[in-house]
Amino acid sequence: MGRIAYVNGRFVPHREAAVHIEDRGYQLADAVYEVWAVMGGKLADAEGHFARLERSLAELRIRPPMSRKALEMVMRETLRRNRVREGLIYLQVSRGVAPRDHAFPGDDVQPSLVMTAKSLDRAATEAKAAKGVAVVTVPENRWGRCDIKTVGLLPNALARQQAREAGAYEALFVDELGMVTEGAASNAWILDRDGVLRTRDTNANILRGITRRTLMDVIAEAGLPFQERPFTVDEAKAAKEVFVTGAGSLVMPVIAIDGEKVGDGTPGPVAMRLRRLYIERARETAI
Ligand code: PLP
Repeated sequence: MGRIAYVNGRFVPHREAAVHIEDRGYQLADAVYEVWAVMGGKLADAEGHFARLERSLAELRIRPPMSRKALEMVMRETLRRNRVREGLIYLQVSRGVAPRDHAFPGDDVQPSLVMTAKSLDRAATEAKAAKGVAVVTVPENRWGRCDIKTVGLLPNALARQQAREAGAYEALFVDELGMVTEGAASNAWILDRDGVLRTRDTNANILRGITRRTLMDVIAEAGLPFQERPFTVDEAKAAKEVFVTGAGSLVMPVIAIDGEKVGDGTPGPVAMRLRRLYIERARETAI
């Protein structure tokens, strides 16, 4: 069965799915996106991702293309048509199609909405987590509004490519103070020398990860020591454990940073436990 995409009111074969060349998402990265993990055919952390989508749109003054309820119906239909039970659903809203001009078009321009869904091999992802992944560090070079989930991902794409060329899974951005900000598509965490779980606070210029937020609840329930506090690359390299979180990675143990082993170079027990607890919770609460 071929993949099906949703584009502005129509379900179309994936290879034919297209937006106009003057779509502002294409021309100016004037668009936001959101990604949900799909578990058992349901949306994981649904509320958090919808709320962040609405916030991203509001921050950029892009009109929501439809109500949340309608959006949810289209998403479910996209999942159904693609027979996705385990995977990801991607949704993008741009300010719409208009003659190229940096300033906003008139109110008559409709936002564009596209959606795709894909299946993931959860067994393969579990095997990856069981082995752990390597990361590299790259200088932070993004704009000042990384809290908005825009498609302006060029620095993230370049960072990921650098990671790939180094045989690593993810790149961690590092600011001018030597502090890790976040991953190219994930939030970064450590279990520090004192046994405290730490991730950077969201007053900083990072995405407010939904997986991160849910994991904070999981950590509180498990009664583990936790602080929202930034850490340096050196602290990460010297940490007991390191991991990254995101809708794609869920909770992914990191076993090397810039070629240097973290701990004994195998996935840490706390990261693996948190992965299991997060997945259990996400499955239970998926809608
Ligand atoms: N940080 C960045 C830059 C991301 O792109 C992502 C996800 O794609 C995350 C963090 C993790 O966010 P979430 O847990 O909401 O998927």
